[in-house]
Amino acid sequence: MKYLDEYRDPELARTLIESLRRRRFDRDARLMEICGTHTVAIFRSGLRQLLPARIQLISGPGCPVCVTANEDIDRSVWLAQQPGVTITTFGDLLRVPGSSSSLHVERSKGADVRIVYGSLDAVRIAREHPDRQVVFVGIGFETTAPTVAAAVRTAAAQGLENFSVFSAHKLLPPAMRALLEAEDLKINGFICPGHVSTVIGACAYQEVVDNYRIPCVVTGFEPLDLLQGIGMLVEQIESGKAEVANQYRRAVSWEGNVAARRLIDEIFEPVDCTWRGLGVIPRSGLRIRERWREFDAGSRFSMPAIQVREHAGCRCGEVLRGVMTPPECGLFRKVCTPQDPKGPCMVSSEGTCGAYYRFS
Ligand code: SF4
Ligand code: SF4
Repeated sequence: MKYLDEYRDPELARTLIESLRRRRFDRDARLMEICGTHTVAIFRSGLRQLLPARIQLISGPGCPVCVTANEDIDRSVWLAQQPGVTITTFGDLLRVPGSSSSLHVERSKGADVRIVYGSLDAVRIAREHPDRQVVFVGIGFETTAPTVAAAVRTAAAQGLENFSVFSAHKLLPPAMRALLEAEDLKINGFICPGHVSTVIGACAYQEVVDNYRIPCVVTGFEPLDLLQGIGMLVEQIESGKAEVANQYRRAVSWEGNVAARRLIDEIFEPVDCTWRGLGVIPRSGLRIRERWREFDAGSRFSMPAIQVREHAGCRCGEVLRGVMTPPECGLFRKVCTPQDPKGPCMVSSEGTCGAYYRFS
């Protein structure tokens, strides 16, 4: 397969691994991948086992399903319970348990909860069902936010009065800062996400590098991309440098997708937001701006205060912060499986627990 096979060449991979093994580390390199797709790619290619022991790969809060806070799941459940409301969202979110229910459970009880593959599908459903209030539960990082912003603009252009967005969107760089400020976590470098970076650009990590002196390498998803990205990080760590480097130049530019960023900025504004496992992170969420408030589900519906309850025994918060691995959770494989998940990290196809379950 042209343009793909060359990033999977086993000979080249062996050479890169050998060159990493030949390096004489005098310190550990704890590298965090902050993207669920990287987590799965690393497992799939067996990279963890092939790297020298001093290079440790830690999974971070890279899946939007996993980092969605219990309270946001609870609010979505409350919305699904309202008469005349249709909930539309991405498939993985349905099975994530909130404090006492999930969208999946509500659907089995008769709520109108529909899986869509894009936010414009939700706009179409609203257009076809003018008698119902259609709410799109929007999760995702800077990669999905522009499409949701476009959906709001489309709904406005079509004069739809029955479409709104419950925004649980999140921004990655503020989460990186929060991780670096956590006392129980030592990170020596970030394997920065390929997809998100196509929008925010490699420039988005400059601030993290400047303030925390931590190397950041934007990396692609094929085995050779990852090996090269890891090599670039190790090189910086060894030479005491901290820079933003871009291994994934074929997809990511320094400034990113300026039009997509403008679109996000037109519809959304940054707001303090709760992440599962990381707590409230300043200016890390996206709220619909005042000008577009009629499309904000939080403004359209008067949601009551909800008593949030965390799940007994589930350690997703610690898994998401990279301070423990899934097998260290007492529920892993015993009572928590992809068929019967107790936490979002097992639900999501790119969640760390799900990846450990399938590949380890
Ligand atoms: S599992 Fe779902 S939410 Fe998480 S990264 Fe993949 S597609 Fe996105
Ligand atoms: S194994 Fe299950 S219960 Fe344990 S942290 Fe992962 S998702 Fe949560």
